[in-house]
Amino acid sequence: MSLPSYISSENVGPWHIFLHQVDQVAPLLEKSLWPWVETLRRPKRSLIVDVPIRLENGEVAHFEGYRVHHNTSRGPGKGGIRYHQDVTLSEVMALAGWMTIKNAVVNVPYGGAKGGIRVDPRTLSLSELERLTRRFTSEIGSMIGPDKDIPAPDMNTNAQVMAWMMDTYSMGEGRTVTGVVTGKPLSLGGSLGRPDATGRGVFVTAREAAKRLAIPIAGARVVVQGFGNVGEASARIFAEAGAKVVAVQDVSATVYNPAGLDVAALRRFLQENKTLKGAPGCSEISREEFWSVPCEFLVPAALESQINRHNAGQVQARIVVEGANGPTTPEAEAILAERGVVVVPDVLANAGGVTVSYFEWVQDFSSFFWSEDEINQRLERIMAEAFAAIWQLAEDRKLSLRTAAFVIACSRVLEARAIRGLYP
Ligand code: NAD
Repeated sequence: MSLPSYISSENVGPWHIFLHQVDQVAPLLEKSLWPWVETLRRPKRSLIVDVPIRLENGEVAHFEGYRVHHNTSRGPGKGGIRYHQDVTLSEVMALAGWMTIKNAVVNVPYGGAKGGIRVDPRTLSLSELERLTRRFTSEIGSMIGPDKDIPAPDMNTNAQVMAWMMDTYSMGEGRTVTGVVTGKPLSLGGSLGRPDATGRGVFVTAREAAKRLAIPIAGARVVVQGFGNVGEASARIFAEAGAKVVAVQDVSATVYNPAGLDVAALRRFLQENKTLKGAPGCSEISREEFWSVPCEFLVPAALESQINRHNAGQVQARIVVEGANGPTTPEAEAILAERGVVVVPDVLANAGGVTVSYFEWVQDFSSFFWSEDEINQRLERIMAEAFAAIWQLAEDRKLSLRTAAFVIACSRVLEARAIRGLYP
């Protein structure tokens, strides 16, 4: 696959990667949709906000925050909130764009949105984090709402952060509005199954790909980057299904055991020690060695652009399942394709989270809550059906799974856009 020069340098931000993906898919869409493709190349609205908070030492600190609605043709905006020191508007735009695609892949009635604050949350106390979250929620208050735009957790945000967001928004409205965010605690209208949903979806799509490639899950070796919400749940669910998780990397260390790591023990160790360094029952390897660990599945579940032209040639996996958003650069993807490695793309593989977020939103509206079994069964069905449609299209038209997912999603979004027409 030849890549345009602006992409092949790998010096571009994720937004350019998103544009490249849209450009690739545009010629494959129905001709009647071509006039609307430009809408995907332009976020509908982007907001940059100043978030000032008083620190414990009495000083005032300022942080930059963002909320982007990429596209709302199919429904309200939906997408997570990220706290990270490297967050930029360009990154949030790309993440919002991928949400538009992802929501259409699993056919939930949402557009795409995303938000973030440029902050290293590890440097803040719990009450500073609460003040930051509340002020940010208030600053983006005009953009969010249960039928407008519904945030959820992403990197370094969790159920507690969602509870503060929901409370802040509710105070402004003068009533309790549980449906304004998803990924909430159970006691506030959260959904059973939500914490594991993204990891469960990663596993379901991995299993579906493995079935088609005749790779048994039992005994398969799995390597996971990121041991947070997505990485830990993916590792645990793979292990429960009989796979061997042989290496895990997070921000603190890379741990390895060719006989299989004890995922539950690793989780406990991380909770107690806040680092994977020194975890029992495994050895530490270098960050670079991680990429060449022999395995059947590689699950990147941390940040963008982790699989790139420098390490794609070393990847031993037969299937890469993208738990993270945008973890594979286009250059790396071309290298993996040449080497016969199948990539289950982020917009499909990690869509389990937003799918159960949709269930949570529906349950909040109806004030009727489902059992965990029901949730997992519905999630399983949606993920397996989305996978089957994408696999079939990829086979029929000789496309990568990512391109096939984009064809299905962009068609859904642009059909909605075309039939709505232009206002005024
Ligand atoms: P998280 O904050 O719970 O965990 C992030 C993990 O990545 C941590 O283990 C952290 O140590 C690790 N990490 C950070 N920097 C790293 C580095 N340089 N090298 C190796 N590891 C590093 O975040 P999360 O919610 O699990 O999100 C992870 C990815 O999954 C993100 O790309 C996010 O957008 C995506 N995602 C999350 C959800 C969700 O429901 N939480 C849904 C879809 C996609």
